[in-house]
Amino acid sequence: MLKKELVCIVCPNGCQVEALIEETPALKVLEVSGCTCDKGIAWVEQEIVNPMRTIASSIVVEQGDFELVSVRTDTAIPLGKIFEVMDIIQHKRVKAPVTIGDRLIENPAGVPCHIIATRNVGVQP
Ligand code: SF4
Repeated sequence: MLKKELVCIVCPNGCQVEALIEETPALKVLEVSGCTCDKGIAWVEQEIVNPMRTIASSIVVEQGDFELVSVRTDTAIPLGKIFEVMDIIQHKRVKAPVTIGDRLIENPAGVPCHIIATRNVGVQP
């Protein structure tokens, strides 16, 4: 058994949390203390068993009135896939125009998410 201390990031309260973890036969949270709500408990279990993150980055735009368009994942993705997804984002090129909400990459690295634009980029005058 293992004890792990975390700070819950679900809300600004930032509760100091302690989790009692069983590592074998499979990673499992046995007990959580310090959370003051159920959302926090669910987050701790997710964070230990399968941590997820959203990504914000940018993609190069060809012939746009801006060189880059800001993007993000439309859902949280497994922490272990972030470098692979970031690599795909960094190598992607799109053509202007781009509209907020456009899906610029679908299922990067096989992850069930989309990379969506978070700003408009018009065509170069
Ligand atoms: S445990 Fe609940 S109250 Fe505390 S930081 Fe997490 S979400 Fe907020």
